Amino acid sequence: MTPEDATRKMQFLFHLRQKGVTDLRVLKAMEVIDRGAFVRGHFADRAYDDMPLPIASGQTISQPSVVGLMTQALQVQPRDTVLEIGTGSGYQAAILGQLARRVYTIDRYRTLTREAEILFTKMGLVNITVLTGDGSFGLPEQGPFDRILVTAAAEDPPGPLLQQLKPGGVMVVPVGQSDAVQSLIRVTRREDGSGFDYDELMPVRFVPLVDGLPRD
Ligand code: SAH
Repeated sequence: MTPEDATRKMQFLFHLRQKGVTDLRVLKAMEVIDRGAFVRGHFADRAYDDMPLPIASGQTISQPSVVGLMTQALQVQPRDTVLEIGTGSGYQAAILGQLARRVYTIDRYRTLTREAEILFTKMGLVNITVLTGDGSFGLPEQGPFDRILVTAAAEDPPGPLLQQLKPGGVMVVPVGQSDAVQSLIRVTRREDGSGFDYDELMPVRFVPLVDGLPRD
């Protein structure tokens, strides 16, 4: 790492703290996983700026402070199995992989899942499984999950995902219309299975959760 890289990394972490990312395990994961590896081409030199950036298939890699705050809100424990809907660049999944025992991540675009898989192999991130499909249905064959993170906005938390949460499990999901500011919601399944508790965390803006599969 050059001295410039080291300074940039320190500034990146300092900014995350200022934005409210204070969980030390989350900060450590964001120190270890280099966002630069997930941003290619034109925008590569903006990888350490706190902004969403375009990736392939017309999608976006989320803003790092939002990734940090969402990850923190998910309260991932070391033995957890986590499901992420919306692989995108793979950045968020890579961070989850540092915190959990096992991560499953799904995207509709084969182009994105293929690239993410290649990156994870190259980076030696062996506890992440990448799948192509419509994540609104979750992954019943691997569930139930301790944690579910949805990184695309749904009008309501999808029913199949709620059903695939373990008792005591937590899901974080942006909820609202795709062309408006959405609310980041945390849903906790009660330990006795009697229902769900909802917390509203903060306003966010995500691409929509879309039904079905694209052609590519
Ligand atoms: N977590 C990503 C950013 C996600 S952008 C990252 O760290 O880079 C949102 C992603 O959700 C897009 O890649 C989009 O293709 C995907 N998506 C939208 N609807 C989906 C669905 N029904 N199932 C799976 N993925 C979906």
